[in-house]
Amino acid sequence: MIDFEVPEETKAIRAKVRKFVQEECVAAEKTCTAENFDTTMKALRVKARAQGLWCPFIPTEHGGMGLKPLANALVQMELGESFLGAAALNTQGPDDATMLTLLEHGSDFQKEKYLVPLLDGQKRICYSMTEKAAGADATGMQTTAVLDGDNWVLNGEKWFSSSADVADIAVVMAKTDPDAPRHEQYSTFIVELPSPGYEIVRNIETMQPHTDLGLKLGASHSEIKIDNLVVPRENILGGRGKGFAMGQHRLAYGRLRHGMHNVAIAQRALDLAAGHVTQRSTFGKRLADRQGVRWMMADCAAEIYKARLMLLHIAYKAERGEDLRQENGIAKVFLAHMVHQVVDTALQLHGALGYSQDTPLASWYTSIRSQRLVDGPDEVHRWRTGANVIKAFEEHGTTASACGGELL
Ligand SMILES: Cc1cc2nc3c(=O)[nH]c(=O)nc-3n(C[C@H](O)[C@H](O)[C@H](O)COP(=O)(O)OP(=O)(O)OC[C@H]3O[C@@H](n4cnc5c(N)ncnc54)[C@H](O)[C@@H]3O)c2cc1C
Repeated sequence: MIDFEVPEETKAIRAKVRKFVQEECVAAEKTCTAENFDTTMKALRVKARAQGLWCPFIPTEHGGMGLKPLANALVQMELGESFLGAAALNTQGPDDATMLTLLEHGSDFQKEKYLVPLLDGQKRICYSMTEKAAGADATGMQTTAVLDGDNWVLNGEKWFSSSADVADIAVVMAKTDPDAPRHEQYSTFIVELPSPGYEIVRNIETMQPHTDLGLKLGASHSEIKIDNLVVPRENILGGRGKGFAMGQHRLAYGRLRHGMHNVAIAQRALDLAAGHVTQRSTFGKRLADRQGVRWMMADCAAEIYKARLMLLHIAYKAERGEDLRQENGIAKVFLAHMVHQVVDTALQLHGALGYSQDTPLASWYTSIRSQRLVDGPDEVHRWRTGANVIKAFEEHGTTASACGGELL
């Protein structure tokens, strides 16, 4: 049986989050600057916590809302409508997925020392896996870790570590066991920042130019030099040789969260477009009354609808503990393209106004391009998804099971 009924309790949480995002976060966007960011964020967090809105998917015994995958997906689809939304509930990337890793794999000591202040919103954490030497194929990482008495000593480099310059803690992957099988050569280390061995060489300039406010939020991606970085033995996370498996687990959640926020951005972009085309007239008619414009709006609606259905189906599978890797890979790629198409259409319908910085569209347009690269590029996901399509055919004589076939 397929049931799209959202439980009343979940509807209420979603409505509460929607109200908070629209009334508090979207409103605060207008006055939030780099100078007042800290006080603005603190005020939003106090208001959010007072309403019980905090760390949506973290279990209640750890101070979160304890939401299951469906409720979390619905909440994240609201939070993404404001660039302040996720941070106001302490569920911003890259911190959120890393908190999840610490929760699942951290020792009691690591949870007490590192996870507790993260969950309380006092600290931030970044994740340093990618290197110039290796990205899509992370098994090519060159950074090494060598045991020296009670410490590990790390040497190498990292690249595109998001939020490193606002982080108090870094999670760093390095090769500990070069002779082990490929996926068991790497371990993960918890590093307290600042540390002389973990040097931020620069925040890399990207398609999305740095702004002072963006840097405060943690929207930077750093190049890191790792030079005789000393890490106590007890700071290895999840066991020696387990880094790669843990990294993949973490990215699996991160991919879904990006997708949920993509739906929110696309929704807000389409709302902005609808607001514009119902006001603007050309050649004696409202844009909204042109058939061509309606077709553009219809195509965006179809994309957002497909995106929501995918996320709901994935949340359904997650709640039942089912294998969702195929759907996750399909959705990761689809959602990145979906948000691009909708934002591009909304920008086009705004004309020169869309190209200006007077609406968020131009900034979204450049920032969301990263979605086709981050957490694995399109081609790698499609390569794996395609392999599953072939496998399904070879096993069952039909590819249906690799295309959401169990829905039939
Ligand atoms: C905005 C942003 C934030 C990021 N944040 C972080 C972070 O916080 N921490 C972190 O560790 N990393 C981070 N990354 C890095 C990200 O995970 C990598 O960029 C990604 O894994 C791709 O690696 P790469 O850039 O080295 O590309 P490469 O591995 O060099 O691949 C280049 C291109 O080759 C093609 N390609 C690669 N493999 C295949 C294949 N098997 N088949 C077909 N084509 C292929 C794809 O088109 C791919 O885009 C971030 C990246 C971006 C853009």
